[in-house]
Amino acid sequence: MKVIEGKIVVLGAQGVGKTSLVVRYIGKMFSHHISPTIGASFFTCKINLDNTRIKLQVWDTAGQERFRAMAPMYYRNANAALLVFDITQVHSFEAVRMWVKELQKNVPEPMVMCLVGNKTDLASERRVSRDEAQQFAQTMGAAYFESSALQDYGIEEIFLSTAMEFINLSKQGGHTLKVYDSETPATAPPTEEVMGNVSLESVALGEPAKGMCC
Ligand code: GDP
Ligand code: MG
Repeated sequence: MKVIEGKIVVLGAQGVGKTSLVVRYIGKMFSHHISPTIGASFFTCKINLDNTRIKLQVWDTAGQERFRAMAPMYYRNANAALLVFDITQVHSFEAVRMWVKELQKNVPEPMVMCLVGNKTDLASERRVSRDEAQQFAQTMGAAYFESSALQDYGIEEIFLSTAMEFINLSKQGGHTLKVYDSETPATAPPTEEVMGNVSLESVALGEPAKGMCC
């Protein structure tokens, strides 16, 4: 079975819901695993899709607001960026523009970009229209998703789409995904639904450590 390993960094202004999105994603799939590990720097999960096993290493950039200079450490070597803003906060949308510029300047390798407008449950307070966000996503070649970590809406799609984009990216030159054939057959049953088969492999605590991986 073909295996693709990729790193996803979650970026965005403080308070937009980055941690909530990640925790909701883990929690939904693996509620029995949710424990004091909620402050994880990253987690890994596997998605079986299209006869390929995709291992995602998802980095929640907690604390980066205070330690802005550390951000490159998180996005360096990332294969995908989830750029999260709060649909009720224009400044958080502007912050995403800043992140995109920074990534474009500092990450030479091709990267999957995914724009996420979170907090759709606060529709009456919306300040960034779907159209505006969609248009901006288009200009940077990103997919656009809207989500509510509160209501558990739209979150699986974000990770599934990124996994699919990793398959596409792996067929192009210049990417830094790890691609290899696994000698051991998949232990998971064949995946029939497009949603794939996701399983939590590990949750790491504490500081990012180089070389820690799924
Ligand atoms: P981070 O700083 O980007 O990691 O944001 P957090 O995940 O810590 O969330 C910041 C605040 O927004 C918390 O009070 C969350 O409960 C709240 N929040 C996160 N996602 C949503 C959402 O989808 N809807 C609403 N209404 N609140 C949310
Ligand atoms: Mg956070």
